Amino acid sequence: MNLLIVGPPGAGKGTHAKVLEREHGFVHISTGDLLRSRALVGDPIGQEIRKTMAAGGLVRDELVNHALFERLAQADCRKRGVVLDGYPRNEAQAIQLDSFLARRGQAIDAVIELKVDEQTMVERITGRCACGDCKACYHDKFKPPETPNRCDDCGGHLVRRVDDNEATVRQRYKAYSEQTRPVLAHYDARGVHAAVDSSKPEAQVRAAILAAIGLDHSPPPVRRPLTPRPPRA
Ligand SMILES: [Zn+2]
Repeated sequence: MNLLIVGPPGAGKGTHAKVLEREHGFVHISTGDLLRSRALVGDPIGQEIRKTMAAGGLVRDELVNHALFERLAQADCRKRGVVLDGYPRNEAQAIQLDSFLARRGQAIDAVIELKVDEQTMVERITGRCACGDCKACYHDKFKPPETPNRCDDCGGHLVRRVDDNEATVRQRYKAYSEQTRPVLAHYDARGVHAAVDSSKPEAQVRAAILAAIGLDHSPPPVRRPLTPRPPRA
């Protein structure tokens, strides 16, 4: 079973994808991590990825696809399946991914959309900080340290990411909404899109995800039959 996990920054994609990996045997592929490790390979593709990322740019589709399909071709991805986090980021990538999988007799079986409203996302992201030494995570509201700005575990200073400010977060939410809607519409047409309310507590979100993909030992969700997509105008 191959899954996509889709949602705005701060929706918990990484957290839930890691749980699916640890407890259910999926291979978690985060596009960001994948590109960072692919950039270390010294071939022309690795070099271009490294240059683009160092300049803060968006790595072009061809390279992202190349890195991802190379990873998906590895044997571990065929055992339990994969959960992709951060991909596809536009409809063109979704189409490429579908045809890559189809050539291998596979498909995306479920698309989990983690829904969280803009205000909740702003609150989650702007409040987060981490220990500069041991990297333990904190949050002003949801997980405050015992002493302000000090790590409970090691006493280190807590630091914030510069782009975790409200204006940037709102900008990222807008970019997400614009780019991702067509991706969800693409999978909606195939009847594999499931939306989960990610503003709920983590355990409830996890249960809803498992239910959506039929891993909570309840009967699998009823799927609409596949209908051919109408031709593009
Ligand atoms: Zn620490």
